[in-house]
Amino acid sequence: MYDTTYHILSHLWEALTAPLHPDADLYWGFLVCALVIAWFAWHLHLNPTPQPVGQSLRSFARRYFSKNLWWHRSAKVDYLLYFSNILLMPIVFTYVGFSQGHVESLFKHFITPSPLLPSPLPPIWLLLLFTIVFFVVYDLGRFIAHSLQHDIPFFWEFHKVHHSAEVLTPMTAFRVHPLDILIMNWVPTLLTGLTTAVFHHYIDPRIGFFTFFGLHVFVFLFNWIDHLRHWSVWVTYPHPLSNWLISPAHHQLHHSAEPEHWGCNRGYELALWDRLYGTLIVPPSLPPAFRLGLGDGSDGQWHCLSKIYFWPLTQSFKLLKNRARPNQNPSQKSALSTVNPPVSPPKP
Ligand SMILES: [Zn+2]
Ligand SMILES: [Zn+2]
Repeated sequence: MYDTTYHILSHLWEALTAPLHPDADLYWGFLVCALVIAWFAWHLHLNPTPQPVGQSLRSFARRYFSKNLWWHRSAKVDYLLYFSNILLMPIVFTYVGFSQGHVESLFKHFITPSPLLPSPLPPIWLLLLFTIVFFVVYDLGRFIAHSLQHDIPFFWEFHKVHHSAEVLTPMTAFRVHPLDILIMNWVPTLLTGLTTAVFHHYIDPRIGFFTFFGLHVFVFLFNWIDHLRHWSVWVTYPHPLSNWLISPAHHQLHHSAEPEHWGCNRGYELALWDRLYGTLIVPPSLPPAFRLGLGDGSDGQWHCLSKIYFWPLTQSFKLLKNRARPNQNPSQKSALSTVNPPVSPPKP
């Protein structure tokens, strides 16, 4: 009993004090930086009527801090999920999570020790190389995981929770089913763990990457702008950068319920993976009109925490059960479809 209470209180405390920790997503420095970028984008580019600074600040606040947005029922669920997932995730990870350390130990278990290769680069260049390679592999891992979430119907049932958001605020980043978080962690952890193991095994057993406030330096830099991925301020990168990097507007299009946008822009920072996979849609410099949500008529049905946690579980296991029946009677299938109309996963 004491342990459970301690667990709950310490994790709630962690969630509440996140803005004070530079290695937390909600660190106040990242939030302020995102806010400044958002306002500049509004003032210089988006505001239809150029205004003096004070007036522009007021219209920005009216538009992007409105009660309709931040107190929308969909946004309230995002806040609840932030706290409830913080309590649940340590438990889930204990049973089905793994770390880079685990991957590295497994690698060592199967690969016989060998002498280190002579490094062709001075230590500082080697450090820079590892920093870049680690980040690219991490970003690729996140893209693969996100593509699995969209392309595999079983995983899509869990990822729907994130896409069911009817409004976007920076807290929508936390609107995720715990099993969706796991998928999102497994692939990058596996790839970065293998990459680290190869570097440690063959080149330098002590090599690390450049960090800033405990975060990978590139992750730290992208955190300055990444909160705008989930907010209605339309921030794009200038051409041709927008062909190569995923801007906040790229991700907002990813949340579009319009069929022509389904499954686009799955990347996090590098647009390369979407280019190769054929899912890149470069956003225009001004926001086009599009609806948010799943686009399947289920808006308004994702405002309850119990539905968010349990509905994906029942739907995904129904999918598994159907697959396990090889000679399924087609009439049975259509009956099931009528009870729970399936939502086709977004197409690549
Ligand atoms: Zn997605
Ligand atoms: Zn999102």
